[in-house]
Amino acid sequence: MPSDFATVEAKVIAGERLDRADARVLISHPDLTQLGALADLVRRRLHPEPIVSYVVGRNINYTNVCWVQCGFCAFYRRPDDKTGEAYTLAQEELHAKVEELLAVGEPEGQVELLLQGGLNPKLKIDWYEDVFRDLRAKYPRAWLHALSVTEILYIAKISGLSVRETIARLKAAGLGSIPGAGAELLDDEVRARVAPHKEMTAEWLDTMRIAHELGLRTSATMMYGVGEPLEARLNHLFALRDLQDETGGFSAFIAWNFQPEATPLGESLGYAKTSGYDYLRTIATARLVLDNFANLQASWVTQGPKIAQISLRFGVNDFGSTMLEENVVSAAGTDFTDDLPLSEMTRLIEDAGYEARRRTTLYDWV
Ligand code: SF4
Repeated sequence: MPSDFATVEAKVIAGERLDRADARVLISHPDLTQLGALADLVRRRLHPEPIVSYVVGRNINYTNVCWVQCGFCAFYRRPDDKTGEAYTLAQEELHAKVEELLAVGEPEGQVELLLQGGLNPKLKIDWYEDVFRDLRAKYPRAWLHALSVTEILYIAKISGLSVRETIARLKAAGLGSIPGAGAELLDDEVRARVAPHKEMTAEWLDTMRIAHELGLRTSATMMYGVGEPLEARLNHLFALRDLQDETGGFSAFIAWNFQPEATPLGESLGYAKTSGYDYLRTIATARLVLDNFANLQASWVTQGPKIAQISLRFGVNDFGSTMLEENVVSAAGTDFTDDLPLSEMTRLIEDAGYEARRRTTLYDWV
């Protein structure tokens, strides 16, 4: 019998696991408030206290040199760049950025450094080991939430190491956890179209599996809105759920839509951007399908603070990072990347009826 919303709702209330047909009903359900209420029910089951967490942190894009040329990216400069805009941050520049965070951030407790960059042929594993060791020694409060599957695979390749050896060495040098970036959509047809030079689904999942086996927690992300069928988003969610069943290593899930401005893929799609409505139904569906994920994070950088605030009633329990300095989605024209001051973030959380509470990267309270 085909699933309908009432059937899926009954399964959720009974605490049953949803299947593919159920997920299809949810992601195409036209009544957003019904969908939100169901996702909120699950969120309240997992997090009964009315608390929304956040982390004090900043982005550091350590290099913009990259040869991959993803169709959705406006951030990179090619290794043979002649514009003078290609960069790799020197140690002193990295220090200055951390000190900026420590100066504007909270006086105590862990802060998160989200270190991400391009695939720069000049940076082998010893560069990362030096940087990580230096940052950890100089700033013990700074947690390194760093790299992506794509970066790790490339570091392994150009350093002549296995992926396992690479992750183990990076961990020994101070890598604390790995962001889910680079997942885009875990659907090979979509990947082959939007980022043909990136790893395919199985390789992304295998790398995350190895990281989890080595004791690193990672987040999982999804970038949708690249002209894909809704089925591709479901492929993504079920792939994540299966791996989480196996390893339990994902700390959180974060979704955002493709930011088309200034990108070749955006041009081919007529710069169409998916809506806030689409974000809310996608995040609510994710909350309901990903029954083995404890945390869903808002993406205020791409959705804006107001939609992020509304997402707190659509299954989201975390507002993410204070995100001092973001260069990747802002290069693609997003308007929300001015730093959201912590006071404004906590106001948005409190106005929605929650207590704002600071956490570490791995979701312990500070
Ligand atoms: S998304 Fe990442 S891998 Fe792709 S071109 Fe941009 S920097 Fe390179």
